[in-house]
Amino acid sequence: MDPAVESDGHGRLFFRGSRYLLIRPETLVALQRAVERAVGTDAASVLAAGGHAGGARATSTLPGDPEARVRALLAMGAEIGWGEFALERLGPRELVVTVRHSPFAETWGGRSRTPVCHLTRGVLESLAAVVFAEPRPVVETECVAMGAPACRFTALATREPAR
Ligand SMILES: [Zn+2]
Repeated sequence: MDPAVESDGHGRLFFRGSRYLLIRPETLVALQRAVERAVGTDAASVLAAGGHAGGARATSTLPGDPEARVRALLAMGAEIGWGEFALERLGPRELVVTVRHSPFAETWGGRSRTPVCHLTRGVLESLAAVVFAEPRPVVETECVAMGAPACRFTALATREPAR
């Protein structure tokens, strides 16, 4: 296994010192579908809230200026198997990220009428909050589960951040 991932021999895995767990994407997709059945359209924000929690922890440990933090988080996303992240645009008021091979979209099964990568979106909302120094929604404008070649996430700031 990648030396960045270590087992302590007591049922705990650590990725660069932070506790992680391996989970099949099918497990998360089944959870997501069950949440959607239970709470309807609020499911997207419920799942994004889970992404916020993990994303806030991940971004808090990243060093450097906003662009360095963005690039580090996107590289880490690929390393932990959340897809192939690319920074399409990072301006003072705009963040656009594309993700190929999202495990959520590729495991979804069948064509979705709406985007499905809410956990990724939540993580990117944590990142956008750091980059723009204000909480901002991230919108998944294209999703592989809807037939797009890649998932695409956009966040817009309301003001110029202090740099
Ligand atoms: Zn997607």
